[in-house]
Amino acid sequence: MNVLVINCGSSSLKYQLLDMSNEEVLAKGLAERIGIDGSVLTHEAPGQDKVKFEQPMPSHKDALNILMAALVDPNHGVIKSLDEISAVGHRTVHGGEAFTDSVIIDADVINQLEVVSELAPLHNPANLIGIRACQELLPTVPMVAVFDTAFHQTMPAKAYMYPLPYELYEKYKIRKYGFHGTSHKFVSREAADLMGKKIEDLKLISCHLGNGASLCAVLNGKSVDTSMGLTPLAGLEMGTRCGDIDPAIIPFLANKGYAIDEIDNIMNKKSGVLGVSGVSSDFRDVESAANKGNQRAKLALDIYHYRVITTIGEYVAAMNGVDGIIFTAGLGENSSTSRQAICNGLKFLGIKLDPVANSKRGEATIISDKDSKTTVMVIPTNEELMIARDTLSLVK
Ligand code: AMP
Repeated sequence: MNVLVINCGSSSLKYQLLDMSNEEVLAKGLAERIGIDGSVLTHEAPGQDKVKFEQPMPSHKDALNILMAALVDPNHGVIKSLDEISAVGHRTVHGGEAFTDSVIIDADVINQLEVVSELAPLHNPANLIGIRACQELLPTVPMVAVFDTAFHQTMPAKAYMYPLPYELYEKYKIRKYGFHGTSHKFVSREAADLMGKKIEDLKLISCHLGNGASLCAVLNGKSVDTSMGLTPLAGLEMGTRCGDIDPAIIPFLANKGYAIDEIDNIMNKKSGVLGVSGVSSDFRDVESAANKGNQRAKLALDIYHYRVITTIGEYVAAMNGVDGIIFTAGLGENSSTSRQAICNGLKFLGIKLDPVANSKRGEATIISDKDSKTTVMVIPTNEELMIARDTLSLVK
């Protein structure tokens, strides 16, 4: 059974076609600059050369048409007909409180997704465009929505409620939702397998450290706290996002004459590692500048590591202990120096890293020493596979 996974952004569309009999990726690709000049779709299948389609794509439907033609193309295609696609899984950013798990998409789900779009105005409308375009092109194929927020719907109220007037929650549903749920769910399950234990018996902390970053406390397989909030701006320092700051900074800047959109842009696009270092939002650039003695780059990384360490401490308290810490996503999977710097701050957990294991890349590995009291792991995330697994289990 083949499952097509679709991840629509406002001007991009990422896809993967997976054969779920062996979870193999048959083809994958990315359409960029949809709706703007210079649209391009790059398609690749294992063992074949990459193919680039440089042609106008005024809408996501045009990109989907090109990718579907590429999938069945006699030269670089991987299936004979679109009938070989049994289901489509859509990455959907915000499910609000309505969706506690992945769902088969029907008219009711679409209506509810429109309602929660207010909570993720940058993401959900693009996800909906992708869903509708796929439904037009594959009208008989079942579609599933897999939400970034759903995994965190198990958080207790004490973790997800903000101490604001209660009516703001009742009126506007202002609360912590959390994101990266598909990734936290995937890596926590993989970690339990790697540790040879049942997830129901484990206290895990998943550190998704990419351009966007969040931590999740996973108690017995369920999210009980996470660092992102109503939006993905909350929590850790990120590539360009500030994470948690004193909320009074916002009216302070407004009183200095900054418009609200300008403040929003500063906090989302000009802060974080980029804002502090003044070098880049890419950790490779910032690490390299810090190594050459750039003090602001060093400070940006020190803040980053400090916040990961202190948030881990918070989640150890929330779960009254921890068995395993997982590093994943761009920085978490690739930067042995960041992992080392973070673990240096976690000696109170009896953590000792194995330097040889910590220098490996690309595979799920235990990087802590045999005597370490807490297991530390690197687990490459695979949100597409998690989406395909959820899709398969719902349509079966
Ligand atoms: P993601 O959002 O998961 O794609 O992660 C992107 C981030 O991972 C970027 O900021 C990259 O700088 C960072 N990253 C990727 N590879 C490395 C590496 N080898 N060392 C440090 N950071 C890396």
